[in-house]
Amino acid sequence: MESSSLHSLFQLILAFVLIGAFLVVVALLFYEVFQWRQAIDNHNRSNLEAQMDILESQSSEHIEEIFLRLPEELAGVYLEEQQKERHQREQTIRNLPPPLDYDTYKTTTSITECAICLDEFGSGDLCRLLPLCKHIYHFECINQWLLEELTCPICRSPIVNP
Ligand SMILES: [Zn+2]
Ligand SMILES: [Zn+2]
Repeated sequence: MESSSLHSLFQLILAFVLIGAFLVVVALLFYEVFQWRQAIDNHNRSNLEAQMDILESQSSEHIEEIFLRLPEELAGVYLEEQQKERHQREQTIRNLPPPLDYDTYKTTTSITECAICLDEFGSGDLCRLLPLCKHIYHFECINQWLLEELTCPICRSPIVNP
């Protein structure tokens, strides 16, 4: 009787020890799993943060690039615009009546000197008559002027009807 009660006490202690050991093992397992999950989270987060950093640096570089390129592009547009205007002026100049010898105009005009170079017209000088205001200039002088603006240097009126 005594030995069996001792035996059952021993069994009880053994059971407690086993349960205790089991609980410790389970607790350790939970702890390990918890640590492991946290490590994964941290890893993912740092990965994500690294990716965000890359994205941010890329987008800020892109924005900087846009700001750096903007003046260049505007300058390009401005140049293009200028070239277009110059091309249009050249076209307008080409459409003017052809240049003629000063002798041809001599009888019909009172102008004796080119208002651009201030030289007197001479016989044989190639001259251009502006069709609207009838002012005449050396062919070379007025062409240079008209490339800058399409108005008559004397009366400032447009050289062609708009
Ligand atoms: Zn001239
Ligand atoms: Zn004029």
